[in-house]
Amino acid sequence: MDGNSDSTGSIWSRIVGFFHKNHEELLEKAIKEANEDGELDPQEGSMLLSVLRLDELQVQDIMIPRTDIVCAEASTAISDVVDLITQHGHSRIPVFKETRDNIVGVAYAKDLLAQLKTDPDVSRPIENYVREPYLVPETKKVKELLQEFLTRQIHLAIVIDEYGGTAGLVTIEDVIEVIIGDIEDEYDAPKTLDIEELNDGALRVSGRAELEELEEFGVELESDEVDTIGGYLCMLAGKVPLPGEEFYLAGRIFRVRDSDAKQIKSIDVSPVQPQAAAGE
Ligand code: ADP
Repeated sequence: MDGNSDSTGSIWSRIVGFFHKNHEELLEKAIKEANEDGELDPQEGSMLLSVLRLDELQVQDIMIPRTDIVCAEASTAISDVVDLITQHGHSRIPVFKETRDNIVGVAYAKDLLAQLKTDPDVSRPIENYVREPYLVPETKKVKELLQEFLTRQIHLAIVIDEYGGTAGLVTIEDVIEVIIGDIEDEYDAPKTLDIEELNDGALRVSGRAELEELEEFGVELESDEVDTIGGYLCMLAGKVPLPGEEFYLAGRIFRVRDSDAKQIKSIDVSPVQPQAAAGE
């Protein structure tokens, strides 16, 4: 036995004991203590804590939202779906009939390659070359989703909202990222930051930025109804605000920089100048 075996043994006996008793809080405490005592590598400790979080998180917390799903209508020609795959770098494309709320299958790049080898007619509609979609409710626990991904050997699920509409899409990569952080594969587009610091304490914020993320920059806004700053401003305005519209909140000016008919895309947030505050 080397010098580390004793401490490793003690961590394991503590961890295994806690798992048996199903005491997750105690397990979390044990991991944190082992971290502080230097018995665990900080990165390993943080991964173990993230595994525990899988039980608290729901699928809706980690899914790709409906509007970001790259998908195709059932009558789309195979060649156009191949274009989508090469343009966006996703190897699985959900296929819907009439609206995104009715996903009828998922087209797999590998299946299409095999198909094109035997029948190179790329004008056929994609609907005949899809697999059954695996549907999950948005409230499903991420831990259960991971177990189902592993037992069913399916790694992509369509997330359904309480009304049966499509809420989003989730893959096993999204689950693994909760544990080990962002994975960027060969086809991932470079990530853009949700919140970018400009000069003079100003921020450039994506409409998607979560209120919780803004808190880390000292901007405190709370809501039970919405999670994102775009949703927050839309809720206040009762509509999607136009570019240039301004809101005075939490000691800052929120100026809509870019928005379309459906959502706010970006916002500039700057501290209120004394004269602006006096004029409010
Ligand atoms: P892929 O490599 O085919 O994109 P991954 O499972 O590695 O598949 O997923 C990488 C990221 O891309 C994940 O965040 C996943 O949710 C997202 N993703 C996968 N397929 C799609 C799609 N058709 N539309 C939008 N996002 C997708």
